[in-house]
Amino acid sequence: MEQETPRGIGQIIREGERSFSFEFFPPKDEAGEAQLWQAIRELEPYRPTFVSVTYGAGGTTRDTTVAITARIARETTMVPMAHLTCVGHTVDDLRSVLTSLTESGVRNVLALRGDPPGGPGTPWEPTEGGVNYASELITVIKQNADVSVGVAAFPEGHVDAASLDDDVAVLRAKQDAGAEFAVTEMVLRASDYFGLVERARANGVDIPIIPGIMPILNINSMRRMVELSRRELPTEVVDRLRPLEDDKAGLRAEGIRIATELCDAMLDGGAPGLHFYTLNRSKATREIFEGLRITV
Ligand code: FAD
Repeated sequence: MEQETPRGIGQIIREGERSFSFEFFPPKDEAGEAQLWQAIRELEPYRPTFVSVTYGAGGTTRDTTVAITARIARETTMVPMAHLTCVGHTVDDLRSVLTSLTESGVRNVLALRGDPPGGPGTPWEPTEGGVNYASELITVIKQNADVSVGVAAFPEGHVDAASLDDDVAVLRAKQDAGAEFAVTEMVLRASDYFGLVERARANGVDIPIIPGIMPILNINSMRRMVELSRRELPTEVVDRLRPLEDDKAGLRAEGIRIATELCDAMLDGGAPGLHFYTLNRSKATREIFEGLRITV
């Protein structure tokens, strides 16, 4: 009997299902691997629309990203999406990664330029025989693999974009190249997310844009992360967390409350789903999920 082809993420969302998803990164050692698989198993019962696995800086996790997404496809009930970047790869390298992914049953790819080898905020380094932008990577993917392609979007604009208009023109170019959905960088304010959606729609971008969520469980580490994209934590958030700086449990609980309110506000305002940056742990994500007013 002929097997039914699994629906790609783009199609699932287009057909009107609210998407919720969890993002993981390839671990560096055995302890990290155990933690990752514990998180995956603890989140599986929530029946996410998909789970994604990042691609490390400089293409360093090429084999582990492929191995983890392949194992998710093989051993779990979840739909995996592999991130893929242009960093340090020729087009031939990209073709070979795509072949490994599709041969392992992975049918969804998040196409990214990728963080430069020097880390976020350092200059882009082209690779001879490679591509320089996510939109060009999508073309390579579409020519070489039958997969649903997602892309990155930025609620406050990409750190290197000349303007918010240029930023959304890039998103439009990614849609035109074949992207079927977008996932955003961590959203700090619901209004930033709605602003991005409004700019996108005004520029002919009609693909679903899924907001990215990460709760603030430690103000200083989150501030450092946000500063890498030259953004700032919103004052109204800092005002709620600052008084709890010496109360670890209290700060954590408030961070979860803030993220839960943000999720509810975005879903209320029409977001097509939520994408959780889990950092390979399940607890905070489960707490937010269970606290949501709106059932996803
Ligand atoms: P692009 O769309 O290529 O844009 C990069 C820059 O070039 C932008 O400033 C854009 O304005 C500009 N630009 C684009 N096209 C053109 C053009 N034609 N002409 C001139 N300028 C142009 N990084 C990783 O290394 N691994 C990951 O797994 C990973 N996962 C991510 C997941 C999500 C959901 C998000 C939001 C980001 C992720 N990143 C990851 C980070 C991402 O790779 C960086 O933010 C990167 O700097 C931008 O990627 P992009 O795909 O948006 O690039």
